[in-house]
Amino acid sequence: MKKKVILKTIISIILIILLVGIVSIGYDKATINNQYNISDRNLEIPIFLYHHIVDNESQIEYDYMQTTKDTFEKQIIGLENSGYHFISYDDLIQYKEGKKSLYKKSAILTFDDGAEDTYKNAFPILKKYDIPFTMFIITDYVGSDTYMTWDEARDVQNSGLGLIASHSQKHEDFSKLSVEQAIENVNNSYNTIEENLGEQKIKIFTYPYGLYGEGQSDALEKEGYIINLTDNKINKSKELNLYGLHRCYPLSDSVFKMKLKITYRSIRY
Ligand SMILES: [Zn+2]
Repeated sequence: MKKKVILKTIISIILIILLVGIVSIGYDKATINNQYNISDRNLEIPIFLYHHIVDNESQIEYDYMQTTKDTFEKQIIGLENSGYHFISYDDLIQYKEGKKSLYKKSAILTFDDGAEDTYKNAFPILKKYDIPFTMFIITDYVGSDTYMTWDEARDVQNSGLGLIASHSQKHEDFSKLSVEQAIENVNNSYNTIEENLGEQKIKIFTYPYGLYGEGQSDALEKEGYIINLTDNKINKSKELNLYGLHRCYPLSDSVFKMKLKITYRSIRY
């Protein structure tokens, strides 16, 4: 008799677990195309960081610095096919402020340094798929050597897809600057951007080399800048800090590997 009761209890527990499992899978499928507010659930929001988008494999020097345009396009299409929606920083800010909801799978695309090859190779692909993105430029380098010109930066901005933001004046190592020097540098870089591209509604700064000194982020936050880090971590929406946004490298990874890394880093950090 007692054994029967235990058996019944075990079977009931197993049935409940199965039922909860089926319902939650169904729920997830049902809501996969729906959008969520910041308080709804803890979304993972990767911000991908690219540098150069090059013509072919022979131009790859460092895996974190160069990605071929073919790989880049495959990553974009692959992520979209697996349900990702590319959003802008404006979307992210509004989401943080509770003014906008986001898809369960949302991601941001960024390009550091303002290399001319990103204009030549990435920009046409981004226009083709109608994807928002942000380019962090080194303001004193614009128009020199292998860097984008102001006309090209203007073209990016006028497309309505691209935001031009600051990656300092001369790609200085900010860990060697005082707080005052850091603020002056970023303010000067934005003065140059606004002289060339007009008033900027959203101002974002990305530390060169991902390096910074004590107190700089707090001071830059007070100046009104959104701040990016380069730390290979994934943003979690419930801990979203607009003054310390994590960014990760997509390298030349397959979409499968990119997704694995997002999951791993979300659990790991
Ligand atoms: Zn850089």
